[in-house]
Amino acid sequence: MKNIIIGAGISGLSAAYFLKKPYLVLEKESGAGGLCRSFYENGFTFDCSGHFIHIKDEKIKNLAKKMCGSISEITRNASIYINGNFVPFPFQANLYYLDEKTKKECVDGILRRKDIEISTKMPFIDWSQAMFGKGITKHFMKPYNEKIWNYDLKKMTAQWTGHFVPRPDAQSIIKSAYSKNSEKYGYNSVFYYPKKNGCQALIDGLLKKCKNVKFNSKAAEIDIKNKTITTSEGKKYIYENLISTQPLTELVRQIKNAPDAVKTAAKKLKYSSVRCVNLGIKSKTGIPKKLKNKHWIYFPDKKLPFYRIGIYSNVTASSAPEKSYSFYAEFSDNKNCENIIQDLKSTGFIGKTDEIVAANIIDMPCAYVIFDSEREKSLKIINNWLNENNIFSTGRYGAWEYSFIEKNIKDSKALSGRINAGNKQSIL
Ligand SMILES: Cc1cc2nc3c(=O)[nH]c(=O)nc-3n(C[C@H](O)[C@H](O)[C@H](O)COP(=O)(O)OP(=O)(O)OC[C@H]3O[C@@H](n4cnc5c(N)ncnc54)[C@H](O)[C@@H]3O)c2cc1C
Repeated sequence: MKNIIIGAGISGLSAAYFLKKPYLVLEKESGAGGLCRSFYENGFTFDCSGHFIHIKDEKIKNLAKKMCGSISEITRNASIYINGNFVPFPFQANLYYLDEKTKKECVDGILRRKDIEISTKMPFIDWSQAMFGKGITKHFMKPYNEKIWNYDLKKMTAQWTGHFVPRPDAQSIIKSAYSKNSEKYGYNSVFYYPKKNGCQALIDGLLKKCKNVKFNSKAAEIDIKNKTITTSEGKKYIYENLISTQPLTELVRQIKNAPDAVKTAAKKLKYSSVRCVNLGIKSKTGIPKKLKNKHWIYFPDKKLPFYRIGIYSNVTASSAPEKSYSFYAEFSDNKNCENIIQDLKSTGFIGKTDEIVAANIIDMPCAYVIFDSEREKSLKIINNWLNENNIFSTGRYGAWEYSFIEKNIKDSKALSGRINAGNKQSIL
């Protein structure tokens, strides 16, 4: 085999799809999809928490549409739940919806920002105060990001914010305190979702085009000297190029005799975990008012243990049977979710007489990679050495980044294109 690909998630399958040379995909699970897989239970379709497809590149959009079969284009309806009120997303462009005291703190904060050079290499909390002021940081950026990352925001940089955190200018922020803002900010103001079968429809479409995928085949040991990879069942394959989409830390662990500098660099890479609780709910009274038409809701309030919920059945009707609705709640670092039904009923997100008819928990051990001052240096050391040995680590966890479906497809396409061209220099 000339090219071995580890992982049949969106990155591994996209790499296979664009490779014009012989390849073999090794996937440790019995099915494809990784974090883009979906689950079917009692008439409900669940993802590993909502996997909504936001794509700007027309070529990737057309590919995704072709793979999914039929797809809906949806205008985002997302909010932040704060002090019992809903503020449309993004918080920093919708101060109008806040109570007067909070609004004043946010506007004062913007006006009193220090005049300093802003860099995403700053600690996140300093970056947020410099960018949005103390009020917006206090009421949303700090509490929400503490919940989702479960990490000291002074030790984390703001390097992940580029694509994800909308940055209206100071004038627009202040204006948004006095009149309703109609501008749709952010990368996902319009998104796409398969009409049937959840995000898995995208994966299944791609899988049909990829001939050589071996399931239940876990990469266990890599010998860079002899260019072999051995699976946990003891099968050995020879590779010329190895594309890995598993977490970079795992890849380094599997390599026999990796240099100490590479092992030490890999040990410095940090991540946080996510627990997703999927719920399918039957209701005689219909979907609760608080959830009506909303696609997802952010919860900065520390009293509630989840940081976000998303309503599958508002994204596509096929996600839930008639007279039912469905959603996911996300908890950082596998926080206790025992009281979730009580919490959601007491806050009005599940109707008092509604009945839970489907439920499952999905743990994502490596969900968000942490951006700290060590990350960039460590990645350089690891990738330089891997690439010299014809190993290319890509995807959200392979590249150790905060990425999404569109970027994963794009990066895999570029990597396969370089391997197709066969010019080693251009692969590095
Ligand atoms: C909570 C959450 C919500 C998200 N929501 C969205 C969203 O709405 N929209 C969006 O675009 N993106 C979203 N993302 C990001 C998206 O999930 C990822 O960008 C994408 O799934 C990454 O795909 P991947 O193929 O790179 O990695 P993965 O999906 O992790 O795939 C890696 C594959 O490798 C396999 N594997 C691992 N180790 C081995 C081994 N040793 N041997 C063989 N196989 C192995 C795994 O089983 C898996 O199939 C979200 C992520 C999270 C955590």
